[in-house]
Order: sequence, then C-alpha cells, then structure tokens
Amino acid sequence: MRLLVVVLGGLLSMSFVAAKTGPTYYTPGRIAIGRQNAERDWGQGILRAIQAGEANTYYIGRQYGSAADCIAQTDDFIWMMQPTTEIPRVLPNHDTLALCPVHGDKVRELNAWTAWTTDPIHHPYKVRCRLGGEWYPSNDYLNGDMTSGEFPDDGSGCKVGDQTFYFLMEYAHMAYGNNTIPCLRSLSQAWLLTGDTRYARKGCILLARLATEYPNFTDRKDRLYFGPYGGRDPHYTWKTGGMITDLIWETFCLEATAYAYDGLWSYMDQDPDMIAFLRAKGMPIETGGDLRAYIEENILRVGMEGLLNGHIHGNQGFHQAAAMACALVMDDYGDTHPNSQDMVDYAFHGDDASAHIIVNGVHRDGGGHESPGYNSIKFDFIRVNRLMEEIRQRHPDRFPLDRYPDIFGNPKGKALFDHFIDLTIFRTFMPSVGDSGNIQPVQRFTPNRYSYVYEPNLYGFERFGEPRFARACTRLSGEWLAGELFEPYPEPELSAALEQPQSHIPFRDRLLDGYGVAIIEDGTEPERGRALSLNYSSIIGHRQADNLNLELYARGLDLLPDLGYPFTWDYREWDSGIMSHNTVSVDETQPPREIGGQCNLFAEHDGIHIVTARHDPYPPHYDTGGTTDPKPASGVSIYERTCVFVEVDEERFYVVDLFAVNGGNQHDQSWHGPLKPMQAPALDWRAQEGGTLAGPDIAHAAHYTDRWGRETRNFPSYITRVRRASLSEPAVWSWDYELPEGDRLALHVIPVGGPAEVIMGSGRSPARPPDWGLDYLLVRRESRGAMPSHFLSVIDAYQQTPVVQSVRLVSEQPLTVEVRRDGAIDTIVLATPDAPSRSSDHRALGVAFTSVAGGETLKQVRIGETAPEQGPGYASGSIADMDYDANEVLVAIPPADRAAFAVGRYVRVLNAHRSGMFRIVRVTPEGEMVRLELDQTALLGEGPAE
Ligand SMILES: [Zn+2]
Repeated sequence: MRLLVVVLGGLLSMSFVAAKTGPTYYTPGRIAIGRQNAERDWGQGILRAIQAGEANTYYIGRQYGSAADCIAQTDDFIWMMQPTTEIPRVLPNHDTLALCPVHGDKVRELNAWTAWTTDPIHHPYKVRCRLGGEWYPSNDYLNGDMTSGEFPDDGSGCKVGDQTFYFLMEYAHMAYGNNTIPCLRSLSQAWLLTGDTRYARKGCILLARLATEYPNFTDRKDRLYFGPYGGRDPHYTWKTGGMITDLIWETFCLEATAYAYDGLWSYMDQDPDMIAFLRAKGMPIETGGDLRAYIEENILRVGMEGLLNGHIHGNQGFHQAAAMACALVMDDYGDTHPNSQDMVDYAFHGDDASAHIIVNGVHRDGGGHESPGYNSIKFDFIRVNRLMEEIRQRHPDRFPLDRYPDIFGNPKGKALFDHFIDLTIFRTFMPSVGDSGNIQPVQRFTPNRYSYVYEPNLYGFERFGEPRFARACTRLSGEWLAGELFEPYPEPELSAALEQPQSHIPFRDRLLDGYGVAIIEDGTEPERGRALSLNYSSIIGHRQADNLNLELYARGLDLLPDLGYPFTWDYREWDSGIMSHNTVSVDETQPPREIGGQCNLFAEHDGIHIVTARHDPYPPHYDTGGTTDPKPASGVSIYERTCVFVEVDEERFYVVDLFAVNGGNQHDQSWHGPLKPMQAPALDWRAQEGGTLAGPDIAHAAHYTDRWGRETRNFPSYITRVRRASLSEPAVWSWDYELPEGDRLALHVIPVGGPAEVIMGSGRSPARPPDWGLDYLLVRRESRGAMPSHFLSVIDAYQQTPVVQSVRLVSEQPLTVEVRRDGAIDTIVLATPDAPSRSSDHRALGVAFTSVAGGETLKQVRIGETAPEQGPGYASGSIADMDYDANEVLVAIPPADRAAFAVGRYVRVLNAHRSGMFRIVRVTPEGEMVRLELDQTALLGEGPAE
C-alpha cells in the first residue's frame, strides 16, 4: 500500500444549503461571558493554554493546541495538518504496538499503550520515541520523500527485521485526536475572544480540510476507522464502529468539532481569498455559505448518522452530549434526516435515555455503574442539560419539560456531586475500585483537592447551593479552581458560601453504601491522617475482581496500592484477577460480574472503628468451569471481611483484619504491597526450580490446565520465583518504603485452624518490561467444606518504630488476638458467625476491645456482639411508615433502645431481599414511634409506564 499526499480532485458538487442562520452555541451572550472570564486569574491560565497549547502526550487528552503556532504557519501547511483518512489509523498487526525499533519494549516503562508522542506543527508526519526522543519515519513524507534513511515509511509501514512498524498510521491517529481537534478548539475560541481574523482563517482552513477527509457511510466508507479491515478490529475482533478515531473517542471529537464550527461560522463569508484557496484545493464551493453547507453535510450530518447507527458511541454521557451539541449547532428541523429533533430524541429517549439516566444509572450515594474515573463522565450530562435548555429556549413548543426533563432535578442529581467529595480520601486518594488508579513508584502524595472532579462542582453549586460544593471549587490554598471559560462564574455567591460553616468538608468515617465502599478516615490534618477503604462494590462497567479489596493510607502514602488500570487490555486476567488483589480467592477462580456486596456493620466508638462487609463472588448458579465434581469454588456461602481500625494515639494506629470464607477446596489470601521488595520471615523456605506458581513446567504467562481441569492463563502462571513454607505461628512480612522518614509496613499473619501454607513469588504482566516485578504473598488453606477458614492479620504501618511488638492468638473460639505494643497489651475479640453471609439476615457481628497497661484497664470498647451470651449488641425495630420525599422512616423501637438510634450512626435497613446502610441525620420521637431522617434517598429507578 503506497499512500501519497494528493490534492483533492473533483469532489461531489454541492446540493445542500446550510441549515443554520447564525451561531447558536457561541451566542453574543456566551462570547461576552467568555471575554469576562478571560480576565480572571483562571481565565488567564486558559488563555495561555489556548495560545501555547498543552503538552501533547497521547492519541487524545489535550484540550488545546497552540493557536499561536497555527497562525505562524502557511495556509498550505494548515491544510495538510489533518492527514488524509486514506491512511488507516488501526495497525494491521498488534505485535509492534508500544514498541520502538531501537528501544524495544523498554519504552513500556513510560507507557504501555504506545511508544510515541507527536508534535504535528514542528515535526509533521513524524512520531517521537518516548524513551529516546528520536523521530520516525526517517523519510520526509510530507514533501514526497518515501525512502530516505534507516526507517522509511510510505504509509504501508517500515520493516525492521521480521517486524513491521506503522509510524504513519500511528501518526494519523494521534494527529486527529490530539492536534486537529485541540487546534480547532483553540483557533475558534481565540477568534471569539480576540476578534483577530488570523485565528479564524486558519481555523476555517483546518475545519474545511477535516470536512474533506471525514469518513462517511457512502463514498468514504473505506476511510472509516475499521474500513480497511471490513469493519472490525483485526486484533480485537469484537471491536467495531468509529469514524476517524474509535467509536468512543469520536464522541468528544465530534462534539468539539460542532462547537468549533459554530465559533468559526461568522468568519466563513468574510474572506473571499480563503474561499479561493479552498476551491483551489478542490473543494466544490463558491461562497462562505457553500463552505458552511459543506461542513454541515460532511461532518455534522455524517456524525449524526454515526450516532444513530452506533458508529459513534461512548461511555454514558459522551454520545448524548455529542448528539445535543450537533442538535444545537445544526439548529435544523427540516426534511433532511437526521435533523436536530432526531438528535434530541436520540439523546433523551434513545438506548441510554438521558431523561432517566441519573436516576437509573446512579446509586443513592451518587456513585455510577463504573470505576470512579469513568463515573465522572456522568458530569457530561451537565452539558446535555445545558444544551437542552438552550435548545428549549429556541424552540419551546417542540421540547416540553415533561418529555425532555431536567436531568439533575432529582435527589441523585445532587448526590453525584457529593459522591466525588466523599470518595476522596484525605484530599488525596481515590479508592481503586475497578479500572482506576495505578501502582506507581513509592511517593508521598501531597493533598491537592476537595473532590476528585473540579469544574462540575460549579454547576453543582449553582444548582443546589450547597456550600461544600463551593468549597470544592477552590484549591486547598483557597484560590479558585478554573471554571468554564464560556459559562457564567458566580464569584460573589461562591465567596459568600465559603463563609458558611457547612462549607467545611470534615474528615470522618463514611459509607458509600450504594456504590459499595467503606472509608475509615481518621485524623485532623490530611498530611498526617490515616485511612482505610474496603471495596464491596458490584460495578457493571470497568469492573475488576476486587471483591472486598482492602486499601490503606497514612501520612500521604498509598500503603497497599492496587495494580489499578489495566496495563494494556491484553492481560486482563492479571490486572483484574481476584488473586492479584488484596483479598481472598477460592480455587483460583475468577468471580463473575454480579452483585453481592453488602455492608453489615459500620461503627466507631472511642477510637475503635469497625467495618464488616460481604460479597458473593461465587454464587450458586455460577458455572466456574472445570471437570471436577463438584465444580471448583462450589459451596462458597461465607465470604466476609472485618477490619478493625485501632487508634493508639494521633500518630499511631494498627488494623486487625479478619477474612472468613468457606466452600471449594483451596482458599488463598493474596497480599501485595508497594513496588518494593517484600521482606519475609525466617521460615523453612523451599524454592521451586523454575516455572511459575502454576507449576514448575509452566512458563511465565503460559496457558495451562489447572488442577480443576480448566484450560487457563491466570494469576498462578504470572507468578515466578516461587518458594513455599509452612506457617504454624504468627510471623511478619514487611515492606520498607525507602523514604527518609522511615515508613514501613509490617504484616503480621496469624494462622488460625492449624498451620497454613505460605507461598511467595514475583508477579508480572508480559506488558511490563522484564525487570518489573511485584512481590506477592499467598496464605493458603485447604477448605474445611462448609466450615469457614479464617485469615487473621494485624497490619502495622509505622514510621521508625513499630507500633505492634508482637501478636498472639489467644483463642480460636471466640476468636481472640492479643497485640503487645509499647506499654500496653490490647486484646481484640472478633465475632465469627458460621451462618452464610450471602443473605440479608441479621448477623451477630462485632468486636470487643480491651487495652491494659500495668494491670490497669485503659480502654474497653464493645461494638455489636462477639458471643451470643454477651447480650443483643444491636437495637432494632420495624418500619411502620415511610416518607420517601423526606428520606424518613417511622420505626417502632422499644424505649430502652431509643438512645441507640443517635444522629451520626449508621442503621441497616433490610428485608428478605435487600439491605442498605444509611446515616441517621435526625431523630424525632413520635408517640410510641421514632422518626428517623436518613441521609440518602430510597429511590431506585424510574421510567415511563405505558
Ligand atoms: Zn526509541
């Protein structure tokens, strides 16, 4: 395949008239707001980004290309900046992805997805190695040189040894998403803000070029993203759709293009010389009106078709926002379809109906159905809502509020903003639920945010007036975070809200019980605070097998970092595997993506915090494969984790961790820490000669047949340097974070129920360089059938001097552990109910904590019940009435138990099928009853009933 840069010959003659009669997005009012915001400190920052451009590091991601660099180029250069779509953007092979011909896979230390970055203005039609900085290909493609140098690529690839590298295909992909689109945004906005025609002219030329190259479903079908491959990805054959880039990224590229067109619209009939230039390039246009019509029909109308036929479809929020942007910008209610009415109907009532999405796609705590980063895409519905308001104002009769409702006008609309504040631990960390976060070299993080998201809080504040949303619009230093350049910025109202005490965002224990995360957050300063998160989520999208994964944070360190976002999609069984997480697995079996998370106890008293949650990783109907009878992971009816967080003083703490599991044949508790060597206790270690945990003859990342007869490639075949020992007494594994302050973590493993097998090894996905490795410890027990195994650990994260000197198992029934520390002996008794954890029934859970020093009892705390004879431990009552709008329940509670229902405590609301934990925000006695106001809505879902 030889691809040449050609001047366009005869394009189809024009038969369309532009629908639009003026800007509909960048109205005079919006431009005035933009010019006003540009005067603000944060606005100046955005202006600098528009002029200079942001760092260009990937296929997508930057908002702004450099408007200043664009206007310094010739018209011809700008015309060529968007590569022809005759160059495919998908490589025909997969084996040179994220490889450099010189540096090989070393470059993956920097990025697993691609070896390259680009700089299309200064180095057109070249990609740059991330590691060495050298440029490929070696020929000057733009000027017709197809052969020069050691690494030439004429568009058909460059053969090096027996591998073919596709520099220009990669370039063509990156140049669209991370240059054409960001430059269109910069040029259009620079024009609107300054009125300088140089920006407008270059922007129009770039947009016109894009219109001549944008694929379609008729005469440019072969230029679609997978056009050269019959419509499907040659490697991931389930992947389809896309236009210039893939179906997901095209959503926001199309949306940005629609706004840029609207912004540049006013210039298109002001420059006959530009029209002549474009005509000379082969465009069938005579006037500015022709140019507008050409862009509308060849980008926007085609994009609208792509939305309807699924070629453009992203995460929830992406495609709806793209559709609404097209609807507003086209402002077309004529006979050519799809028109604006079709787009609004698609966005509000299509497959992922915006009309109900916040209620149906968000939990009562505001958490979405995906991992946290992806859930933040729900804020794209802010744009959907705003665009709907703009469209409604223009066409009030077409779009009545009952059919096109206010998307955020419900309790979950507000909860969405709360969620990202509540999920942010110590202004720093986000629990690594599903595909989120990543394991990085050890570093002490500096607190930097009130919420995981920035700009959306502004909308949250405007809509709901919550002072804490105003707080989330500021940096920790008090400066304002950037708002949106072309949206109003109510600075006086924000400032007034910050004066209110409710704007303070406290550190405290909290449950995001709809989403499935428990957070224990203890301390008054984020830099010195310590926190724990327990993940019992059941997300649908971007799920990992992180059932009951435990994370721990202290002094700005992510102490038990999760592997996080997959390091390429090719070894998902590693990145998202249950055994890769700090949790327990049964029979090396990966769980299905089903619900099953539930919190059963969440309380704190006098410095003792406790959380107990369960999951249901191996439900009875789940076919776990294999040829054994019963099948692997059968009969797992108990799967429950209890974490007791013990405050020793303001600096020192430790965690007692208990995991109960039954069923199957083999129970493994996995532990990994930071990317530092795990230090092992002196045991009678037996090293395995070669191979992996899957077997001495099973190579790294090989497929094999496991002991249950399953053909698989899973966690065991990713673990090398295997050694084993028997553990009959408590022992300590530890990590040194190698920081000057002397941070360490000691993991005391306490065998319960006789000796356990302990296995150590080093894990690695093949996407990582060969010298990368993460140390793992597995504590393995043979199953006792229906009787649960108990994995008991004490985690001590300290600086300089260990808090925990030794641990001892005092008794197995009741389960009692003794922790000796400087000057005191703590005794912790934990409940171990044998009933299945799968149901929503009440469970006798709890902890009894006693601290003794010099014969004197320093502290005694009992939460819940640890043994039946200790009394009820719980107060309960039946719900007599409910007020859904007020989040209230009327409960019959015996007078003696009423004091237990105190503001700030959590109650569990349950029936035979469901269970939910709510925080009590108000208690009002009402005759024989007590009225409890709860913190969250009980609203589950909504939809049209016909
Ligand atoms: Zn290189």
